[in-house]
Amino acid sequence: MAVFTLINVSKEYKTKENTFLALNKITVSFNHTGLTMIKGRSGCGKSTLLNILSLIDKPSKGQVYINGKIINKIRQNKINNYRQNYIANVFQHYQLIGHLSVYLNIALPLLIKGKKKKEIDQKINNLLNKVNLHKDILFKKADDLSGGEKQRVAILRCLINDPFILLCDEPTGAIDSANRIDVMNILQNISKDKMVIVVTHNEEIVNNYADRIIEMSEGKIISDRVIRETKKMDIEIKRTQKANFNTNNILFDNLKRRFKKNIISLLSLVFCLTLSLLIFGFSHGANKSINEQAIQQFDYGVTTFYKEYKTSLEGTNMSLVKMIKPTTDEIDKLKPYLEDYYLSYNFDNLLNPYPEITYNDKPLEGISYCPIYSFLSNSVDTSLLINGYLPKKDDLSEVIINDSAYKLLQKKINFSPLYQSFTVRSSAAHNYYSLDESNPLIVDYFLYEQKIKIVGVVKEMGFLQTPKIYYPYVALENYLQNYLLNNLSEYLAIPYSYYDCVVYAVDDDFSPYSYRLFLKNIDQHSYLEKRIKNIPLPYVIESNGVIIKQTLDEVVNALTYGMTFFLIISFIGVLAIFGIINFSSYVEDKKMITVMKVLGANDSDILNIYLNESMISGILSIIFSIFLALLLSNVLNHIIQYFTGFINMITIPFSYFSIPLFIPIFLLILMIAICVLSTALPIKISKKMILSEELKEE
Ligand code: ADP
Repeated sequence: MAVFTLINVSKEYKTKENTFLALNKITVSFNHTGLTMIKGRSGCGKSTLLNILSLIDKPSKGQVYINGKIINKIRQNKINNYRQNYIANVFQHYQLIGHLSVYLNIALPLLIKGKKKKEIDQKINNLLNKVNLHKDILFKKADDLSGGEKQRVAILRCLINDPFILLCDEPTGAIDSANRIDVMNILQNISKDKMVIVVTHNEEIVNNYADRIIEMSEGKIISDRVIRETKKMDIEIKRTQKANFNTNNILFDNLKRRFKKNIISLLSLVFCLTLSLLIFGFSHGANKSINEQAIQQFDYGVTTFYKEYKTSLEGTNMSLVKMIKPTTDEIDKLKPYLEDYYLSYNFDNLLNPYPEITYNDKPLEGISYCPIYSFLSNSVDTSLLINGYLPKKDDLSEVIINDSAYKLLQKKINFSPLYQSFTVRSSAAHNYYSLDESNPLIVDYFLYEQKIKIVGVVKEMGFLQTPKIYYPYVALENYLQNYLLNNLSEYLAIPYSYYDCVVYAVDDDFSPYSYRLFLKNIDQHSYLEKRIKNIPLPYVIESNGVIIKQTLDEVVNALTYGMTFFLIISFIGVLAIFGIINFSSYVEDKKMITVMKVLGANDSDILNIYLNESMISGILSIIFSIFLALLLSNVLNHIIQYFTGFINMITIPFSYFSIPLFIPIFLLILMIAICVLSTALPIKISKKMILSEELKEE
């Protein structure tokens, strides 16, 4: 049975204009050892015939048999088996991989078969003599060799697998005459027990070395002569197990060679992942941090309560807003919604929330005078106290300030305001008109002049905090109940207090539009929000604390949305960069990939080299970005805390949805997806290579 048999093999090349017949119904057999020379003029189809024998090209028509088996429809893994074990190619331009060492070039066929270093070294050492090469050459780069050396290395790479057949296309075409003789002698030597088929147009070589001469012209064999009888050859095709390409050396070389590119893709991934982790940490930590901090306001439960009516102005998109004091009936109906509260009148029209505050007659501006329900109430958050003590009784003469007021007062009076006395003053004249002509105008002069001693300092949420003095509302009520409008009382002949004025006020100087509602038992940050939601419109419960918290929440949400959008864009960008870098590596290595395929490497093994290359940058970038994100979040948290007082605004949770290490695992999966998407997909959808074409391009 012949090793190679070609029956009526034709090869057509179709161009846009016409169809060219490179091989025209060739029938030929090869079944002996020795040197078979295929000669003929340039363009007669020699290389095309050799490529078909090498299985790097397919015939357009006819049948090719190896060892009696038709190979036209053979599966790729079987072809790879032939390439790994039975046939080897020597090319005019050597097809060595220039950036690899000679050692790796020679070792490549064995690495593809998954052989170990020891076996590889042994085989290379045994073969070096056969091609007249010295051991020292192994450590040179293939690019640095002379033409003759390159061809001997290429032949050595062919011999390493101990193939039955060597297919050589113009093996001496690119080397000088001294080396030509050397290379031909080596091939002749090899041909003693192997089938060596050489394509050449060099008559001298044909005449000196050929055991059989096949002459071609215009795609046909015009003569086929045996010059010397050689041994008949039988090859036994064995089923071999799928080899596992030992890709480590190639992978390591790729990483080293593309160091800069890999660093760029690593950095872009680190940038994107770190940013994502920080954004994620911000959206996760900010709300919690705000919620925890926002209730750290001494007057968090102090609200104003009113009705709000809106009338839209026709023809405009504006509306008129009217605030109205709820009636006692309405308040009674709301009672089921409001647990643990104390409702009182609003005395803001009487006592200015920004009264005159003096220290030894020196006016101090910018501090507000704010009520809390009572120092003795359960709702007072004693944990906020950082200095001094909380008054033991509700008395207007002992007050608490917040740290912002402490700083301001300390700056103004040049020493600690704690245990110092100040004066709070607010005044207003109130006129009443009577129908009594002898006494038409009754004037009462309201003067609130209160000596206050600061006995404690509370630390509140730092951000947006204004300087405040806290006094107990119950004491003010008491004070106003006892403070009579002397002239009016005298006129009416009944005791009439400023407290009464506010209670009965309707549309006059005393008339506030709202009530004061002191919520107690504020143990949850959502307490106020829930109550606001539960009360049907048009009631409004308004509190500075809640407004600040809601504003901050909205800012955080808006920031998170904005940043998420940015994140998506940057992710797409990084994916594109990663994809382009990976694909360009593949394009850059096209020659190496073609050579690996010719040597019998599987597509999937080759793909793995590139997948692993991007995966290494990917996994390293996950590790770096986790460390970087932790470091940056720490630094940023310190900066944020310094400027705003918020603690741990960026909290990167490693466990999520109660799954431990969810985030690193999620990133890993994401990374694998990015690597597969950016590496495998472009390679898979890129044009399938025809090996003979690819080799020609080089
Ligand atoms: P030789 O090796 O004898 O010089 P080849 O086998 O390389 O010749 O080519 C035979 C003919 O086929 C040539 O005329 C060449 O131009 C043509 N040919 C080879 N490859 C292609 C191709 N991919 N497309 C079109 N024509 C081709």
